[in-house]
Amino acid sequence: MIIVLKRHASETDIATISELVCSLRYQPRIIRGVEQTVIACIGDELSNRSLEVLSNLPAVESVFPVQKKFKLVSREYHPSDSVVNVNGALIGGGNIQIIAGPCAIESYDQLRAAVVDLTACGVKIIRAMPFKPRTSPYDFQGLKLDGVKIMRDIKAEFNVAMVAEVPGPAQIEMLRDVTDMFQIGARNAQNYDLLEHLAHAGRPVLLKRGMASTVEEWLTAAEYLVVNGCPQVVLCERGLRSFDKATRNLLDLGAVAVARQLTHLPVVVDPSHAAGASSLVPALARAGLAAGADGLIIEAHPDPVNAFSDASQQLESSSFGAFLETLAPWIELAKALRKQA
Ligand code: PEP
Ligand code: MN
Repeated sequence: MIIVLKRHASETDIATISELVCSLRYQPRIIRGVEQTVIACIGDELSNRSLEVLSNLPAVESVFPVQKKFKLVSREYHPSDSVVNVNGALIGGGNIQIIAGPCAIESYDQLRAAVVDLTACGVKIIRAMPFKPRTSPYDFQGLKLDGVKIMRDIKAEFNVAMVAEVPGPAQIEMLRDVTDMFQIGARNAQNYDLLEHLAHAGRPVLLKRGMASTVEEWLTAAEYLVVNGCPQVVLCERGLRSFDKATRNLLDLGAVAVARQLTHLPVVVDPSHAAGASSLVPALARAGLAAGADGLIIEAHPDPVNAFSDASQQLESSSFGAFLETLAPWIELAKALRKQA
């Protein structure tokens, strides 16, 4: 931590603050500038108490942390890309995955039709969402336990990997045997109790960025998972709340590039919830791959017009193969970018 003292700070102030710094288990190094004195404090900021309490002292102008709030997910700690294994489907380190499936499970026939279409064109991880945490309590909340049963039946037939959103700690156990990767949705992105519980479930986690989370908050949420025993984390950029309604959310591709620099964890982009309109999904999907994403998660439904939720943004699962063909050069680009890095 760096403590910047006020111009009027006296030698007595400097001595008093240095003693306080020592009592908080940091070593002070005093740097006397022309106008102001700075105390550089050496010590582990993650395990020691923060020196920010000292910012209330009359002789202190400001206190700055130097270490990042996330350590285990940082590139400094683990320079090479992590690869996440979702029941045999790899994400990261040059493995580009396109995850697809409907916004929500609506019926056995609906999920089965989507899985038939999507697995036929090579999709290895299916969105299978029996729980839908929604902003409005009047919107479709998912089939819940009936949806879990549908997942089980479809899994028995197709043996395909599935990602399912977990709305709270109470649903972890009922989802565990059918879920190959848990999703933490944007509304739960900073639900630390859920993150801690989920870390012990023994499954990879797709961690969406909160709709108003900073990159630091996103990565620190991932740190909760890793420090509590879940190293298999995939980050997902899905767009931020913004002033502009032209798209549903503002896809933050800069954050994808920043996350690639700061963390070894794979990053995927969700163009569907960013776009809010199916016609915009292909462009945002291409942009996500070009920005360095390790994959995409895309909503695809056998009958989007009649979907129970997010009807306007879902692609038709029957034409997903044709869409993937148009995406092929960008998938190759994403692989090439990974080799260069
Ligand atoms: C979803 O992926 O089903 C979803 C609800 O997205 P988000 O949490 O990003 O809004
Ligand atoms: Mn949706």
